[in-house]
Amino acid sequence: MSVKYFVEVMEPKTHIVKVRVSFKVANQQQIECFLPSWSPGSYLMREYAKNIRSMRVLTDKGEFVYFEQTTKNTWKIDLEKTPLKSSFEALQVEYDIYCHELTVRTSHVDESHAFLHGPSYLLGIKGDQEAPQIEFKFSPLWAKLHTSLEDISQERSRFIYQAKTYDDLIDCPVEIGCHESDGFMHEGKEHHLVWYGESYPHKNDLKKDIQKIVETVSGHFSSIPYEKYMFITHFKRNLYGGLEHKNSTALHFDGRKLVDRQMYVNWLALVAHEYFHTWNVKRIRPKELGPFDYQNEAYTTMHWLTEGLTSFMDELFVLRSGLCTLEEYLKMQTNNLKRYFSTPGKKFHSLEQSSFNAWVKLYRPDENSLNSSISYYLKGGLVFSTLHFDFKQAGKNINDLLDTLWKRYLDNPQVGMETKEVMEMIEEIGGKEIRERFELRISTTEDIDFESYYEKFGMKFLWEEEKAPYLGVDFSYQGERVVVEKVHLDGPAFKAGINAKDEILAINDMRILKQDITDFKKIFEAQQRYSMTISRLGTIYKLTFDMGTQPRVLKQILVQDEQKAMECFH
Ligand SMILES: [Zn+2]
Repeated sequence: MSVKYFVEVMEPKTHIVKVRVSFKVANQQQIECFLPSWSPGSYLMREYAKNIRSMRVLTDKGEFVYFEQTTKNTWKIDLEKTPLKSSFEALQVEYDIYCHELTVRTSHVDESHAFLHGPSYLLGIKGDQEAPQIEFKFSPLWAKLHTSLEDISQERSRFIYQAKTYDDLIDCPVEIGCHESDGFMHEGKEHHLVWYGESYPHKNDLKKDIQKIVETVSGHFSSIPYEKYMFITHFKRNLYGGLEHKNSTALHFDGRKLVDRQMYVNWLALVAHEYFHTWNVKRIRPKELGPFDYQNEAYTTMHWLTEGLTSFMDELFVLRSGLCTLEEYLKMQTNNLKRYFSTPGKKFHSLEQSSFNAWVKLYRPDENSLNSSISYYLKGGLVFSTLHFDFKQAGKNINDLLDTLWKRYLDNPQVGMETKEVMEMIEEIGGKEIRERFELRISTTEDIDFESYYEKFGMKFLWEEEKAPYLGVDFSYQGERVVVEKVHLDGPAFKAGINAKDEILAINDMRILKQDITDFKKIFEAQQRYSMTISRLGTIYKLTFDMGTQPRVLKQILVQDEQKAMECFH
């Protein structure tokens, strides 16, 4: 039996999408349907079913059919409990769903556009996966629909598409509205660019640069695994993020910031990141990540492969595309290393642990995240940089690993990989010692000497050893008032018993306001004792603390041998 979806967005200002799912029933008396709780690529239970407003089930003759909700996101249709007057061919589940959250993993509908993200609004019928079709009807004020689904419309005025399976159907986001669109061909394949939102005037040529990234990234693999690819971009204030799909990506960025050179390089790295996922994650993947159980968490210890490798490659692709200079690339690496060095949680979580706990740690950050875990994007990327350096010393390259991973995928695309397989590939390429070193780095919290790697390739760390006053606190502000947001493990504030959420009222009985934090280095001195007045849960306390000295900070990676340095990243 095949499933047909009819999706209507006729009153976008209400944010309501009307969905009708029609399917034939063989001999079953009971049919189960579900709405996913999460989206592949984003490891948080988002509970999309909370947005369903009303639901009903009818036969194609218009008779109501009995159904009941069985869990937060599953429903059971029961024909045994339904006395029907006439026979029928198909059942229809109809529901209204509220879509008003603009992220890459939710749907957003308003008068300006509709961005429809499959898992958030398309009901699945259990046991039914074959060739679903979907038709969209939308406000006559809108002119365009973009998606990487296969277009099977016979008439220009209709928008009918087909997918191979339910998984493929919900893996293709849809953008509807009056957006700008453009595109280019590469290796005989269509690449579409969809732009929703605004940016200020800038001199960058986005199309040319995205094309360059497509050439560079796809050039690292022996084949391109899609016929058509779609970059759906939303440029809105303060947006940042991306989500990978098999044949497309959704990208979020603050379009106003494209003017800034460093932000533009970050944007290019984001494009390269999501596009590289077409190979790594959407195809090369841990065995736990596809096929998916959309109702339960998919636990894996291998996000060092999914996001770590991708985080290392994204910035490297920008450099290899000639879209940033070596200095700009090294500035990104400096920032990565700075973040790593200043994360106390790296002492407690290995990459494998951080990966396994993604659902409750990385995707649900809180005041203590910094002290208890480390991002597998950040550390994973850095660990892959050491693997690449190790490979280079052995006359190899990270490219050799990409090549081997891709071959393994093509040999057995149905089954994802296990850690052991990847380790064997690394050993095959670089030898036993490199494998063992890499294994330690993903499975333990052992310190990594990044500095000596860079030195081997003609670069040098420049440390800033300023004797600045240091409290070990991240602040936030409520108007002019100063509140402790995070307390760094084992720092001066931690030792003095200062807590996250404490409001700092005064130091040495002098009022503390936002400006004083800006002027921190001008008014305080390292190695002095101070008193602090705080408000904690509405009660005033006074405590004493010893101002510490700022730990040394990585300021820059200096290039001493330009040729050697440049060569090592290619
Ligand atoms: Zn990613």
